[in-house]
Amino acid sequence: MNVTYTIIAPIYNEIDNLSELVRRVKEVMDSTGEPWELILVDDGSTDGSTEKIRQLARADKTVRPVIFARNFGHQVAITAGWDYARGDAVIIIDADLQDPPETILELVKKWKEGYEVVYAVRGVREGESWFKVWTASLFYRLIYRITDVKIPVDTGDFRLMDRKVVNVLKQMKERHRFPRGMSAWVGFKQIGVTYKRVARVAGVTKYPFNKMLRLALNAITGFSYFPLQVATFFGFVSAGLAILAIPIVIYMRILGSGAFFGQATTLIAVLFLGGVQLISLGILGEYIGRLYDEAKGRPLYIVREAPEDQ
Ligand code: UDP
Ligand code: MG
Repeated sequence: MNVTYTIIAPIYNEIDNLSELVRRVKEVMDSTGEPWELILVDDGSTDGSTEKIRQLARADKTVRPVIFARNFGHQVAITAGWDYARGDAVIIIDADLQDPPETILELVKKWKEGYEVVYAVRGVREGESWFKVWTASLFYRLIYRITDVKIPVDTGDFRLMDRKVVNVLKQMKERHRFPRGMSAWVGFKQIGVTYKRVARVAGVTKYPFNKMLRLALNAITGFSYFPLQVATFFGFVSAGLAILAIPIVIYMRILGSGAFFGQATTLIAVLFLGGVQLISLGILGEYIGRLYDEAKGRPLYIVREAPEDQ
């Protein structure tokens, strides 16, 4: 079947948002007059969202359910959406309606002007804690500075991508994913559209601090060697300090100074170096763990139920 637009919504325990999501997406997409589909990727929900998705799909053929065998994470759910998408333009949207479906029309407009990636930039953010907004803002700026790819700041996964881009992304099989970075990495003609990120319609965030930290680690390790370089840098700094200290201490001893005697000095030096070494080991470990995951080559996700019309 030929469809122009595929909307992908990853879903993890969003039962109270689903009907509204489908209704609003339908309203907006019908207004384009072009064929579209909505892929609801159930990322191992436990609150009955799964059954609700099945119901919605039975009632409306534009809704195509992809149901995971367990929770694989937001990024992987988006990836599954790419794999099942049939549209010429693919749009990723949050299921909690924080990304207003009406904004899709603005993304579509830019696509029709010839842009291949149209990402939505979060202007105002409503209904989120200051901590969330502050950590997110810090995160975007940190990533922008240290990664090799210029990932636009204040930009989430809400975006439209041309079929050409999605076909490239489908070939990128990395396990620890950061889709917005991947979509910046591929190049093509990109542009941002600013929108107002509103409060969730229902439910609570599925991104507690530890998940945000994981995502940040994926972004940093996936797109830069910066942490490894920091380890090298500290290695050089502490070695340099030690080399400088040797002649100074010898000189002071010759002059008869009693400084740098005793356990405390030794202890501090040992603890400092031990700390630097352990942190460097940890950083190496992050990269090696990721390599190990890649080497295992397990499937990225397991689908329990794929859309019938696949
Ligand atoms: N989500 C998911 N799997 C997860 C966590 C979240 O599919 O393990 C979905 C969630 O249902 C929502 C989107 O990802 O549609 C964004 O999550 P959320 O709104 O909780 O994040 P926030 O907007 O608070 O950053
Ligand atoms: Mg949200």
